[in-house]
Amino acid sequence: MEYILEAKNFNTFYDRSHILFDISLNVKPGETVCLMGRNGAGKTTTLRSIMGLTPPKSGELLLKGKNCTGFQPYKMARLGLGFVPEDRRILGPFTIKENLELGKVPGRKGQWNIDTVLDIFPILKDMTNRLGGTLSGGEQQLLTIARALMGNPDVMVMDEPTEGLSPVIVADLKGLVLSLKKAETTILLSEQNLRFSLAVSDRVIVIDKGHSVYHGSIEEFKDEKEIHKTYLAV
Ligand code: ATP
Repeated sequence: MEYILEAKNFNTFYDRSHILFDISLNVKPGETVCLMGRNGAGKTTTLRSIMGLTPPKSGELLLKGKNCTGFQPYKMARLGLGFVPEDRRILGPFTIKENLELGKVPGRKGQWNIDTVLDIFPILKDMTNRLGGTLSGGEQQLLTIARALMGNPDVMVMDEPTEGLSPVIVADLKGLVLSLKKAETTILLSEQNLRFSLAVSDRVIVIDKGHSVYHGSIEEFKDEKEIHKTYLAV
């Protein structure tokens, strides 16, 4: 199996607005693929289409070679997709530990449990009884990633993980994503932060107004100054 995740020719709508036009992407096992584009380009819609949260009207989705087209989000989670949403969705009245417990997915087993997850998030480990609602934006982002790991996903899907974070927290996040990569975690993320993307990705797809406009390895992409200027807010 060359690809662990394959989205083919997605066309997604919100009501009658056509948002994604024949978007295709694929991810190999252990790879980190980054979807880039400006605000409103369609990054969130692409990831939500893959998760089954905003199902495409046409197109095909394969996870580990299995056709999952039209599957609901809970089914995608059970089959091995972990999702880190842009809006984080931490439960404010629940403790860090309880938020983490909520990330468990029935039937999924693997290396990640409360202890192993907290080992790689030392900041969270020191405050497992704090309520989610009292955490800073950066701490909430880390908790969202930790919660997704609790489901022992085969592919981590992260929507703009650096959004709204200070440079210091972005540096922490970079270290964390690099350590997940080292552990051969497969990652599909969306980003607007070019430096972050260049530091963590193996391959990049750029979308604009719902169309795919560029696809290349990170080595090729880093020198594509025209692409950066035309399609990214740099
Ligand atoms: P951002 O970085 O701002 O999150 P994005 O690249 O993730 O941008 P999307 O959120 O996927 O972009 O939005 C793509 C397009 O779909 C935009 O034109 C947006 O206005 C539109 N859109 C997003 N959500 C909805 C919705 N619920 N109803 C109608 N249109 C929507």
